[in-house]
Amino acid sequence: MTSELLSYEDALASYDPVMGLEVHVELGTRTKMFCGCSTELGAEPNSQTCPTCLGLPGSLPVVNAIGVESAVKIGLALNCEIAEWCRFARKNYFYPDMPKNFQTSQYDEPIAFNGYLDVQLEDGEIFRVEIERAHMEEDTGKSTHVGGATGRIHGASHSLLDYNRAGIPLIEIVTKPIEGAGERAPEVAKAYVAELREVIKALNVSEARMDKGQMRCDVNLSLRPHGVEKFGTRSETKNVNSLRSVERAARFEIQRHAAVLSSGGTIVQETRHFHEDDGSTTSGRIKDNAEDYRYFPEPDLVPVAPARAWVEELRSGLPEMPRVRRNRLREEWGVSEHDMQSMLNAGAVDPIVATIEAGADAAGARKWWMGELARNANEQGVALDELPVTPAQVARVVALVSEGSLNDKLARQVIEGVLAGEGDPDAVVEKRGLKVVSDEGALGSAVDEAIASNAAIADKIRGGKVAAVGALVGAVMKTTRGQADAARVKELILERLGVEG
Ligand code: ADP
Ligand code: MG
Ligand code: ZN
Repeated sequence: MTSELLSYEDALASYDPVMGLEVHVELGTRTKMFCGCSTELGAEPNSQTCPTCLGLPGSLPVVNAIGVESAVKIGLALNCEIAEWCRFARKNYFYPDMPKNFQTSQYDEPIAFNGYLDVQLEDGEIFRVEIERAHMEEDTGKSTHVGGATGRIHGASHSLLDYNRAGIPLIEIVTKPIEGAGERAPEVAKAYVAELREVIKALNVSEARMDKGQMRCDVNLSLRPHGVEKFGTRSETKNVNSLRSVERAARFEIQRHAAVLSSGGTIVQETRHFHEDDGSTTSGRIKDNAEDYRYFPEPDLVPVAPARAWVEELRSGLPEMPRVRRNRLREEWGVSEHDMQSMLNAGAVDPIVATIEAGADAAGARKWWMGELARNANEQGVALDELPVTPAQVARVVALVSEGSLNDKLARQVIEGVLAGEGDPDAVVEKRGLKVVSDEGALGSAVDEAIASNAAIADKIRGGKVAAVGALVGAVMKTTRGQADAARVKELILERLGVEG
């Protein structure tokens, strides 16, 4: 069933969007939230389970201290207040991938609340997203529905359950309703999730890879007519798992809501599924506010009461926040907002920083990561940091170029060799025989030869048409198979012809 859509412009001409973003982050702790089972990915199904995470009668949970510490760090980084005392709660519902029949979560006593995150939009403007709460909970197991065409439960002949993921610590971060973004609402949603991901990575509490499900976002969206105070009814698009999809889901829902509302219909409060292929959403389950999870305080876990001194210690140990760091690097490198944004989008900032730390100058490091390497990563469909090249190797290439042993063309071949697994840059230079010919004798005879076989051009240059020197440089580069230092060649030619450069 396809949904009617209003054009984006028409939707915004009549309505203001209100959004709420709920982001789940899987923490990178070694063990689960309430038991000692491993969180390692990729193990045999159900090999990382115990009576506690299988919900067997009589088992008792124990809180993971690193989980609590990570939650406090996230709360602090999001400018939240940290609860002096809070409890876990049971969120009761039945689902086969949740063997306890309740999820251990937090309800009215979250560990962190009332914060904000400033995000930078493409035009450079800062938009403040207010945070309602960040609370601790646990992941569910994983169902695999077998036999159907779609992988969904409908039409499946049977389902497989893997409880390895059950009990992995999650932090859920919920925004207050985001108002006033107008037509930029989808951009704000994307920028917020992107910034949040950077913060989580900087805190080193999770890799926050959306493609691996370590971070996922539910997009709540409603529309209200211009000038109306009261919020409209929201839809909740679940488990959106890329930045681009967050933006597309918000945009689609704005257009869908607008079509329903402007034709006199009403929006049902429901969850929706997002479809990567065409960017649409379809109806999930009806969900109204009366939905009763019969939350109650978890009797098997002690309350969590983070000592103020400990909270302050964690606060003072927080790393530099990503937006501050980006601004600092932008100034240090002397690049524009736009260039910085491109580096960010390409995932190049950290590799560039590491390359500079390995001894390269900033311009050289930027050039290779944003040029040759970005092109390679693109072609192979991998992230920059997944390329088989280390920052130290890139730094070595930069050094070889700046000391004149390689020109750009040769350096590209060296990079190609490194990526092909031929070893370190020096080894590739050696094996492929890639060295700039700077031996004056060899260069000199190549230059003489070029002048002799291009007499007409040489005369033009002698006569003052210095620009024609390019053709002679080209001839020398050709006879040296691109291995000459072009600047030096030009100097030599002009010297030989007795012309000032
Ligand atoms: P639930 O558990 O039902 O999803 P939450 O309160 O955890 O509810 O999350 C709802 C999210 O949607 C929050 O981010 C909240 O700010 C936001 N929200 C609430 N009401 C609306 C609305 N009418 N339109 C858009 N967003 C809303
Ligand atoms: Mg929700
Ligand atoms: Zn366990």
